[in-house]
Parts: sequence; C-alpha cells; structure tokens
Amino acid sequence: MRTYHIPIFVPHKGCPHDCVFCNQRHITGHTADTTADDVVRIIEENLSTISGEYYAEAAFFGGSFTGIDIDKQTELLEAAYPYISDGSLTGMRCSTRPDYIDERILTNLKKYRMSCIELGVQSTDPEVLALSRRGHCYDDVVRASELIKSYDIELGLQMMLGLPGDNYDKMIKTARDLISLKPSCVRLYPTLVVPDTDLYIMHEQGTYTPLTTEETVEALSEIIPMFERENISIIRVGLQTTDDINENTVKGPYHPAVRELAEGRIIRRLIEHNLKTECNEIKIICNPGRVSQVIGHQKCNKLYFKEKYNLNLKVIADKSVDYNKLKICDKIVEIYYEV
Ligand code: SF4
Repeated sequence: MRTYHIPIFVPHKGCPHDCVFCNQRHITGHTADTTADDVVRIIEENLSTISGEYYAEAAFFGGSFTGIDIDKQTELLEAAYPYISDGSLTGMRCSTRPDYIDERILTNLKKYRMSCIELGVQSTDPEVLALSRRGHCYDDVVRASELIKSYDIELGLQMMLGLPGDNYDKMIKTARDLISLKPSCVRLYPTLVVPDTDLYIMHEQGTYTPLTTEETVEALSEIIPMFERENISIIRVGLQTTDDINENTVKGPYHPAVRELAEGRIIRRLIEHNLKTECNEIKIICNPGRVSQVIGHQKCNKLYFKEKYNLNLKVIADKSVDYNKLKICDKIVEIYYEV
C-alpha cells in the first residue's frame, strides 16, 4: 500500500529560538499564516491526485507545530479531522521541538488522532546543541520521547549531521542514542548552509566548515545500517530539493540523491569484505531496485574495484532476490548485517 504524507507547512512565526541553521522562510517556502481553509484546500488537492489503496496522513511540518498557540493548533487539527473521520486520511503527523511537549499538548493532539510526532533532536551532544543554539538538551529529548510513547503516539526523531562542533564519533553516538529511544522512524539531514542564517555568516567568517559530501556519505553509510538493523524506518535522508534548496542556493554536502550515494558505499564495503581475490570477476546478483547502487553513482563502485583489484564488477538483476540481500560470487549476504 502506498504511503502519502500530505505536507501542510505551518511556519512557527515568532519562534523565540535561534537555531543557527534555521531560516524558516527558506525551509518551508511559505511565510504566510496557515489557516483552516488552507488545510482543507491542501488536503482536497492532494486527495484528488491519489487513487487505489493508500495510507495518507496530513503532515504539519515547517516549524514547531506544538510551539504555536494551542487554539491555533486546534483550529488546524479540527480542519483536518473530518478527513480522518470519513476514512480519507489515516492519521496526522507533526514535527516539533522536544521542549514543546507536555501532557496538555499531547492530550489535545491525541483527541484529533495525531498518529506520529517527529521531534527535532539534531544531536545528542551537549557541545553541538549549545553551538547550534538549539536551546534544549538531551534530557528534554528523553523526557518528550517517553511522554509521546506513553500516549501511544508513534515517535519520530530527526537528526542533523555536521552541525557546529560535530564530528564522526559524535554522529555515531547520536545515532546510538536515538536508537535507544526506540523511535518508529527517523529522518537524517546532513547540515546545509542556507542563506540568511547565522550558519551562513559563520561559514562566511570561516568559523564553520560544513561536512564534505565524502564525509557525509561515509557517516551515513555507518548510520543507515544502524537504524535498518533495528527495523527503524528511515523516512528521509537529506532535504528535499525546492526552489530555495538546491545546488545553486545552499553550501555544504548538498546532493539530490545522497541516500543513493550512501547505499552505494554500504554495498561497496560489503562486496570488498566478501571479496575472493582468486575470482577473475565479481559477480553480483541483486534485486532490480539495487542495481544502480551496486554499480555506484557514475559507476564509482565499478571503477573502484577495477582500479584497486583489477576486477570487473558484473551485476545481474533478479526479482527473486530480496531487496536487502545480495549474492556476491554465489554467497548470499544481508546488506545491513554483514559488515
Ligand atoms: S529550527 Fe525550529 S526551533 Fe529552531 S529557530 Fe527554526 S523554527 Fe525555531
């Protein structure tokens, strides 16, 4: 069954926080107040394009949904609720900060059948949180996560890689901490330098250096298997390309298919680990959906094995092979488990 998140952008106007990476206008692409009429219009427009069997949720994204006035939250939730009552929508989800979660807020969300709350954690390292001016600590994340789960609402967690003060070990530790909170899903965002943010100024002044694409791919190729092994759904890697977020407007490790790059790296490492040097070629049989990842972006994996081992990488697509397995020279391996 296909899953749809119908995005309803609710910028947190007047947000008192000052995260160095944030420019809401650039992230959401909207600056106007969102109204109940907007909610109805967006849901109607999206539902008119969906057919067959589906699982669709209204997704209140863009700022800290539970940080806006509770009457405004209720107005927007009430506008979406009839679509849940009549079965057109399966639920609702929203994104927010860990320090904007309490029992009053959760009771209200639960009343309107909020099915998943995604917390912007970004990092669990105190120095990274302080340098990024998040204004919350990891204890807030733990407290909010436990409270959300106690209301039987799914927990989603969002992580940013490469914020000020971050490094490889801290990113791995953050992923481990997030796993310990047992979320049902995560989003992984490599930090990008967006114009009109403090991070942009820090970058201009030389006090902040973003991760390179190579560093990002290396970190993601460790972190993605960590979540996959725990059956935590990774619902997004990298910001979506928009008019405001693209290779011409942002600096840092922007790539429209950063997850594909990381999956290719995971597979390269796996092949190398299982390499039999007595072979005169590397024969890989995989699910058709994995062929481009095995070959690698711009054939980088093919070139890698040719240059390093003088071996040709031969890839055969076979629908009967599980998406998360590969046959490497006749040995079946699990993509996220073997290395
Ligand atoms: S990221 Fe969220 S909390 Fe931080 S400044 Fe932007 S809207 Fe406010």
